[in-house]
Amino acid sequence: MIPEDTRLLHIAYEEALAGYNEGGCPIGSVLARGGEVIARGRNQRVQKGDPIAHGEMDALRNAGRQKTYRDTTLYTSLSPCMMCSGTILQFGIPRVVIGENTNFGGNETFLRSKGVEVIIVNDPDCIDLMKRFITEKPELWAEDIAE
Ligand SMILES: [Zn+2]
Repeated sequence: MIPEDTRLLHIAYEEALAGYNEGGCPIGSVLARGGEVIARGRNQRVQKGDPIAHGEMDALRNAGRQKTYRDTTLYTSLSPCMMCSGTILQFGIPRVVIGENTNFGGNETFLRSKGVEVIIVNDPDCIDLMKRFITEKPELWAEDIAE
C-alpha cells in the first residue's frame, strides 16, 4: 500500500455509507490516478433500479472516457464481483485496492492470474457496514449477488 491508498479507500467507504443511508447496497468505489480522484461512485441498484450499476461500474461511468487506465487504481469497499472483475480486465486497470473480502470475495485469484495487482486492506469500517447491511436486508444482498 501507498499512503494515498488509505485516504482514497476511505472515500470509497464514504460512498458506501451514502448508499447505505439511501437504502441501497453499501458498496462504494473510487477511480484514481496519481493519488487524485478521477471519479467516485456507489452501487445504484436500488436507487436507480439499475442491476448493472455496481459501485465500480458507477465510478467508471462517472469517470467518463479515459484515454488509458494503465496508470489508474480502482478502489472498492468490497471485493469485486465477476462483472466488475471482467470490466477491470477489459479496461486494463492494473491495480485494485479492496476494502474487504470477508463478506464477499473469490475473484482476487482470477484478477491476480491476469496480472492485476490486488491489495486487500481488511478495513474494519468496510467489514462492519457490509455485515450490518447483509443482516438487515438479506434479500437485497442475495439479489445483488444473484443468489
Ligand atoms: Zn460488481
